[in-house]
This record gives sequence, C-alpha cells and structure tokens, in this order.
Amino acid sequence: AAEWERFTAGTPASGEHNARASTTLPLGVTSSFQHWDPYPVSIVSARGAWLTDVDGRRLLDLSMGFGAMLVGHLNPLVVQRVTHALEETGTLFVTPSPTATEVAERFKARFGLGMLRFTNSGTESLMYAVRSARAYTGRKAIIKIEGGYHGGYDALQVSVKPALEDIGPAEAPIPDVPFDVEAGTVYVTPYNDLPYLTRLLEEHASEVAAVVMEPVVENLSIVLPDAGYLAGVRAACDAHGVLLIFDEVKTGLTAGYAGASQRLGVKPDLVTLAKSIGGGLPLAAFGGTDEVMQVVVDGRMAHFGTYNGNPLVMAAASAVDELCTHEALDAAEAVNVHALTAIDAVIAEYELPAHTVGFGAKGCVTWSTRPVRNYRDYKATDFGVAELSWLWGVNRGVLTPPGLDEQWLVSLAHTDADMDTLVGEFTDLAKALRG
Ligand code: PLP
Repeated sequence: AAEWERFTAGTPASGEHNARASTTLPLGVTSSFQHWDPYPVSIVSARGAWLTDVDGRRLLDLSMGFGAMLVGHLNPLVVQRVTHALEETGTLFVTPSPTATEVAERFKARFGLGMLRFTNSGTESLMYAVRSARAYTGRKAIIKIEGGYHGGYDALQVSVKPALEDIGPAEAPIPDVPFDVEAGTVYVTPYNDLPYLTRLLEEHASEVAAVVMEPVVENLSIVLPDAGYLAGVRAACDAHGVLLIFDEVKTGLTAGYAGASQRLGVKPDLVTLAKSIGGGLPLAAFGGTDEVMQVVVDGRMAHFGTYNGNPLVMAAASAVDELCTHEALDAAEAVNVHALTAIDAVIAEYELPAHTVGFGAKGCVTWSTRPVRNYRDYKATDFGVAELSWLWGVNRGVLTPPGLDEQWLVSLAHTDADMDTLVGEFTDLAKALRG
C-alpha cells in the first residue's frame, strides 16, 4: 500500500493523462498490454536506454518496447537511415524495391532461411505461418504450448495464460476458451513435456499441420528448454509429417546473431520474426525452407499487405542488420551477465526465495526457489512479491516490463553502470523485504 501511495504521489501527470485518454481510448491505451492498475506511466520521449515521462521523471528503460528496441532508442544509424527515406526516397511504393530485396537477402543469410516475406506485426506473421503450414500439409489442426502467447490471431488465442482453476489436471491440459470452428482444432501441450506431445501426435497427427512454440518461452518471464527437449520436438514432428513453427518474435536477435533456433541448434520449418528486427518500427516477417515457402510461390497460401516491406521500415531494418553484429550482441549479453551475476549475489546474501534466468540479452527474476519448466510451475511463483518488486523499481526510476510475464532487455545502449541502477534498487528491495 505504501508503494502504491508513493506511485500515485510521484506520477500525478500520468494519472491525469490516463483519465483523459480513457474517455477516448479503451483503458486509455493503444494495446491492452500497456495497461496496468491504477494507471500506466505515460512517456513523452526516449533516448538510448532512458525514458522521460509526462511528470518529467527519467526512467531507466528495461522494457525497451517489449524487447523491440534492441538497438536502443534513437539509435543514430537508424535515425540516419529513416531520415534519408523520409527526406530523399519516399515511404511507400507498393512495388518491389531494391531496399526490401537487400534486407530480405541479409535476413535470409543471417537466419539460414530459404525464403521469407515481410509483414507489419508478429500477429500477422503467426497468422501467415499457421496458414502456410495448413496449406503445405493439407491439415487444419495445430498444437500449441499451454499458457503460451503468440499475438492476437484467433487460432492462437487458445490457452493464453489461463487461470489454473480453468485448465484442469496437469495430465490433461485443455483450452481455456471454447474450441473455435473457424480457427480449426487447437491442441495444447505443456512445455518441456515430450511424452505428452508425442502422445498427442500419435493420437492426432493425421489432422495436425504444425506445432507452434517459442523455442524459449519469453511470455512466462523466461522458461528455458530442458536439454534435448527441442531436438525431441523436432524429431517427433518429423516422425508424423508435422511442421515445426518457432515463434521468434521475442527471442530473435535478442537471443543472438541468428536467433534462438540457431543458438539452440534446432531448425524449424517456419519461423516468425518481429520486434528486435525492426529497430522500433513496425516490421515482422515469416519465413522457412524453400520447400515450405513454395506455398506462397504457387498461391496455395496467398500473402498480402499494403505496408509490407515499405521503404521506411526497410531503412530501419538495414540499420538493425548492420548494428547487430556478433560483437555488439555479445557485448549486450555481457552487460546482461554482469547484472544477473550481481542480482544472484543479492539473492544469495539476503536469502530471497528467488532466482534469475537469463537468455542472450534478456533476463528476469523469478520469485520461486524451484526451477520453472512450464506454465503451471510459472503460475506457482510468487506474483505478490513480483508485483511489489516491479512497483518498487518504477518508484525508483527503473521501468521493467509492466506485465509480470515479461523480462528485461539489455539493449546495445545499456551499460554496466545502467544495470547497476537496477542492482542498487533491487538491493534496497532485498533489505526492505528482510528488514
Ligand atoms: N508472438 C510472441 C511470442 C509475442 O510475444 C508477441 C507479442 O508480444 C507476438 C507474437 C505478437 O506480436 P505483435 O505484438 O507484433 O503482433
């Protein structure tokens, strides 16, 4: 309660702004993920790793656009390329353009894809990836991970972070929303449970087009795959002629130079990319092997979009590709390791019931002493302390992502000193919790 009082006392302009915005925009926000109670902090500008809110406070940004701002806010190369497009070349032709082809060629080489197409959001990319798999296999059903989030497409709205009391016993996960006839059948499997997936495939493979999953689940903080799990999923899909779709909207370049699949050594048939590849502009993509992407070539799955591959966004993407070298991403990961190591030491010193998880440039504190391997483990963590920890940070100028399911991102702009701000604030929290 004291922290909430401190929050409202420190952010009166955000409160007023939310009251005004709420009369026009539902909840006063432009995406429901931007909302939190009693109201979100409203931001007016950002540079590098720092934000300025409507109350004039400076906040260390560890949300970084839900992971989209990997290159940092107002990265000079992105600004230069986008400005050039705005002032010299134009922003929309709806024709082929060499810029889009060049970016596609670079992403193809980087991510080891046969072919890819650009879209404007992760949601769209997932929709087209699922459609591609359905067109390729001639089957309708899909299998997704229990609790997993993949954007707003209907077929993937099943079992998105459901309440535990709604999902039944662990041996038999069921969707939390009614089966949607138009979307096709969706089966749900717990993450890190290969026997469960194998059983599902044995029973239903002749209906199933694809298994859709984040290779590392970054919508439940960070849940890492058990050793051998992803290779097992790959083999099970192959055994049944089912495609494997890796949703790398959140992992992508934050996981390393060529994404999580390359880092973890398991290749999907289709991949979706968004967020980190766009430098903060609305860019996403779906791509895969030449063979699967033939469905777009021969029209079994047509793909459209007025803004796809527009020159403005492509200009930013070309900058992102140049900026995200092995060296630059390794450096961001080293800053992340610096922070994780320091926070581990605080957790040990104060004997907090928590542990850290890191993957690439992303990290989180999970409020449980037990490892989290799936959605049900995740739901058993202490959300009360997690919320207090988040609010404690906001009140002291550190903005980690508002949904507790998110994780922090160390961008190319964050330094060890920036992350020490997080560590300092977390140390004070530990003292308060123990005091
Ligand atoms: N897939 C995953 C794993 C995501 O985390 C998100 C968004 O957070 C999406 C898809 C949807 O992306 P977008 O918000 O760009 O539509």
